[in-house]
Formats: sequence, C-alpha cells, structure tokens
Amino acid sequence: MSEPTPLARELRRILATEGPISVADYMALCLAHPVHGYYRTRDPLGAAGDFVTAPEVSQMFGELLGLWAAGVWQRMGAPHPVVLAELGPGRGTLMADALRAARIVPAFRAALAVHLVEISPALRRRQQETLAASGVAIAWHDDVATLPEGPLIVFANEFFDALPVHQAVKTADGWHERMVGLDESGRLVRALDPAPLPRFEALLPAHLRPAPVGAVFEWRSDAVVTELARRLVRFGGAALIVDYGHAPSAFGDTLQAVRGHAYADPLEAPGEADLTAHVDFAAIAAAAERAGAQALGPVTQGEFLRRLGIELRAARLKASATPAQREAIDAALLRLTGGGRENMGELFKVLVLGDPRLGLTEVIP
Ligand code: SAH
Repeated sequence: MSEPTPLARELRRILATEGPISVADYMALCLAHPVHGYYRTRDPLGAAGDFVTAPEVSQMFGELLGLWAAGVWQRMGAPHPVVLAELGPGRGTLMADALRAARIVPAFRAALAVHLVEISPALRRRQQETLAASGVAIAWHDDVATLPEGPLIVFANEFFDALPVHQAVKTADGWHERMVGLDESGRLVRALDPAPLPRFEALLPAHLRPAPVGAVFEWRSDAVVTELARRLVRFGGAALIVDYGHAPSAFGDTLQAVRGHAYADPLEAPGEADLTAHVDFAAIAAAAERAGAQALGPVTQGEFLRRLGIELRAARLKASATPAQREAIDAALLRLTGGGRENMGELFKVLVLGDPRLGLTEVIP
C-alpha cells in the first residue's frame, strides 16, 4: 500500500473525532484545504499536470470567447466600465487569448476591468505571469461575492465541475446522504448517513420520480449561481458556463479522481488527485431562473465554437503556418469541436445566463 498523503492523515484525525463527513465536505477538503488542498499546492494543468483543458488545447478557444464577450457588451449598450470576470482561470490562458481578441473592439477593451476568482495561490501567480503582457490591471477574489458591483460578463470554463458535490443514495427506506468515514483499520470508506433525508424525493426533478432503489443523485450548493444571477439581473450582463455534465438532470455517481492523466479512486490519494463531478446544467439553469435571470442552452461546445466561426479562425491561422503547425491546428480543431470520448465537442456543453433585458434568444448574442 502507498504511503498515506498528508491530507489523509489529517482526515483520519477529523473523522475519528467528528465522525463521517459528507462527500461534498470531503471534496471541499481535498481541493481547497488551506495547506494540503489539491488546488492550493500545485498547477494541475497541461501535459505535465493531471489534465488538459480547452484553452490549453488552442488559443482559438479563448479568442472566440473574447469575441462572444465583445458581442454581449455591445448588446448591453456598451457600458463603461464593465467587469470581465473569470471563475477558476487556471493558467490565465483563456483570459489572455480573450483580451488579445478583444482588441478588435477597442472601446470594449478600453472599458474592461478584469477580475479573477481563484483560490489557488500557485495558480494566481501563474495567472499574473500569463497576463502581465496584456497590459490590463487584474484583481483577484476568493469568491464571487466580492466582485465589484456593476455590469459584468463572466467566463467559467471547467469551474463548476470542481465545486463540492453532495451525493444521496435511494435505499429501501428512503434517501440517505453518502458520507466518507473510517473503517476499523482506519481506512477511508464510503458510508450512508443512517438518518434519512426528509422529503428528498419531492425535491427531485419530476422526470426522475419515482426513483429506483440504488439510484444516486448529486447536487451542489446554488450559492455561486444565485449570486451571479442576482448581479446579472441588477447590473446587466451575461455569464458563459462551459463544462461537462448532464442536461437534463440524471442519476449516477459521477465523482471522479484524475491523477497524472489517469483515473483513480476518489478516496485513494486525498489532496493529490483532482476531484470533479458532472455539472447538472438543468439545476444551474433552474437556480438562475429562480433569481430572475434568463438561461439559454445548453448547446454542445462544438456547435457553440462553430457558430462563433472557429473553422474560419483555424483557416486564418493555417494560412501563415508551417506544415507542422497546420497539422497541430487541425488536431486542436478536432479536439475542441469533435465528437467521441477523446474530443471535447460533444462532451462539453455551453450554458449562458443573462440579464433578461438583453433579450437573448440564443447562447450567441
Ligand atoms: N478554467 C481553467 C482551469 C480549470 S481547473 C481552464 O480551463 O484551464 C479549475 C480552476 O478553478 C482552477 O483554477 C482552480 O484553482 C479553480 N478553483 C477550484 N475551486 C475553486 C473555488 N471554490 N473557488 C475559486 N476557484 C476555484
């Protein structure tokens, strides 16, 4: 057996004294523990890290999102200033590419105030380096609640999948929350909370009722979505959410750990593997609508990028590229827009939340 990670030792202390914790609390500790949390201690992105994201595949991704933002800004009536916020910006690549593309709308570029919501000190440093050349002032936040109040445009790529997820399991005597506890030998194990979740099934989307025994349902706190929606309604603007997951809501245990580009048991190396779970787009849309915002989509990432003109952009880049670069551009285009498990085009989806006064009818303004 491998050595327990520092966080595993700490978790044993916590679980031995306080008893089992929810899967959501476990996930929050694994990712965001102040000392040993996965995102606190490392840059997990790219070939040398644990996973690769769309902005790291190609500059085209961030560029097209920058153009989307410029279109939204015009539709908002070109407010000056406007907050361009990104949730979980990783290495800052998406924002750097978006800002470069935004230069073709100089008034938009001039109106922008960039605000990044990021918990990882390591990634904040990385973002600062990446964005230094862009020549814009950047402010960082731990949470959306401290973003400046005013018109805003928001990007969130692979952010919501990293937010803690709760799991409940249907048994013969009702729904129980899934917990993480210790077995007799002190190992981390899954367990069900003995107390049933009262009236849980009534809260499920209608098409999932009645649920079969053994069904697993996952949900997240609405806090981030509600706060974003409130701001969009009050100050104007739109948010672009790109992630993988299900629309409509569905059953299933989707919690997964990835370490060095390979899947691992989520309980195995706490703090040293990336933990994510599918995003429930229908739940995000419903929470946004409850707060008065409009929800559009989701559409697949492939469709979204094609409608923003990714094929034309690829052709432009290829026109001045070497043969090897041309091959790389084609490979990136396929990866971003293609179907199948090895590509992101159908797996990833795009949901837009907007101020109803924008009168958006589709995900593209
Ligand atoms: N958007 C980037 C990175 C995705 S990884 C890309 O596409 O490449 C997830 C990002 O969210 C990381 O930057 C991570 O540090 C950040 N993050 C995770 N949980 C967070 C939280 N609760 N609050 C703020 N940032 C968080």
